[in-house]
Amino acid sequence: MSVSVKDNPSFELMEQFGHQTLVFCNDNAVGLKAIIAIHDTTLGPAIGGVRMLPYQRMEEAMDDVLRLSRGMTYKAAVAGINAGGGNAVIIGDHRTQKSEVLLRRFGQFVEQLNGRFIASLDIGTTPKDMECLQMETNHVAGLPKSLGGSGDSSPFTAQGVYYGIKAALKELYGNDGLAGRTIAVQGAGNVGEQLIALLREENAKVYVSDIVEERMAEVANKYRAVAVANNNIYELDVDVYSPCALGGTVNKETIAKMRCRIIAGSANNQLRDEREDSQLLMEKKILYAPDYLINAGGLISCYSELAGYSASRTAALTENIYEATRSVLRKSLSENVAPYQAANQIAETRIADMRKIKQ
Ligand code: NAD
Repeated sequence: MSVSVKDNPSFELMEQFGHQTLVFCNDNAVGLKAIIAIHDTTLGPAIGGVRMLPYQRMEEAMDDVLRLSRGMTYKAAVAGINAGGGNAVIIGDHRTQKSEVLLRRFGQFVEQLNGRFIASLDIGTTPKDMECLQMETNHVAGLPKSLGGSGDSSPFTAQGVYYGIKAALKELYGNDGLAGRTIAVQGAGNVGEQLIALLREENAKVYVSDIVEERMAEVANKYRAVAVANNNIYELDVDVYSPCALGGTVNKETIAKMRCRIIAGSANNQLRDEREDSQLLMEKKILYAPDYLINAGGLISCYSELAGYSASRTAALTENIYEATRSVLRKSLSENVAPYQAANQIAETRIADMRKIKQ
């Protein structure tokens, strides 16, 4: 009788998601429990964030690491960079359980992968933490600027989203000017604030919401944007709804209320159900700029660090998001497929092509 992957839930998930490698890292002495997932390295080493969260169930950590690493493969492929997809999760509360020894021990596990995985920033980790990892491995990106790294990636993420918005406007209206356009930004965090700054510089009318009221008021005042209650943001009659807070905000319930013409923002996994929600958006003629395509600025910033960080090179690579978004939206319209499917097809074709010359 042969062994079936069904005997092992991890193998079953790896088969389902198409992963190459899954590494469980454990060290009782320092209290480290982490998972590194390498999805695909056809295009290059797998770059991925290190997320530190107090997952309550193992399934949640596995689900996060597998989905995020696969997402990185697609993000890198469609952004045209030579990187594969990976991700890591450290199970624990970054506010109370993060320590130098824990991070350095994790760095040793990264080192054992010999450069197949390059660790970078995600929720719960900072450029300073990457400095700790670097004491044990060179396979790290997102280091502080003072160490020649790219530092905080959010300015480039915001820049990429700005290009994504402009590309979608161009597709829909024939011109990408922002003056007088109305844009509702959900989430006035690192990316949201910098995006609002870019939009206001070109005289777009901006609405902003955030669950932290003081933050919303501060950003609204600073950039002369209009603060709106979070629950009301979906109903605004605007050109663009830009989700820059958290995933899953585009779903059956919110789409029913939406009056925007375009959705383009930085949050990962914006569609709660890719197939169903895309279909609803197409029926409502709302143009969706795929999240992983237009929020690739952060990944591009880490990637450019590997060849010796240069802000101008990173900016140039980020600017490509404009043309990449236009190609995806044109393909979506001409082939009558959802934009996320068009983006997936472009990514999969690039990976399949490169596989031919990499074997
Ligand atoms: P952040 O934590 O700095 O900002 C998020 C903001 O959203 C905070 O101000 C928070 O109060 C607000 N928020 C949380 N829940 C909300 C809700 N339900 N409604 C309204 N506001 C809410 O994060 P960030 O770095 O600005 O990233 C924003 C989003 O973009 C995240 O989903 C992140 O995963 C994604 N992203 C960020 C980067 C990057 O480079 N920072 C790269 C790719 C994707």
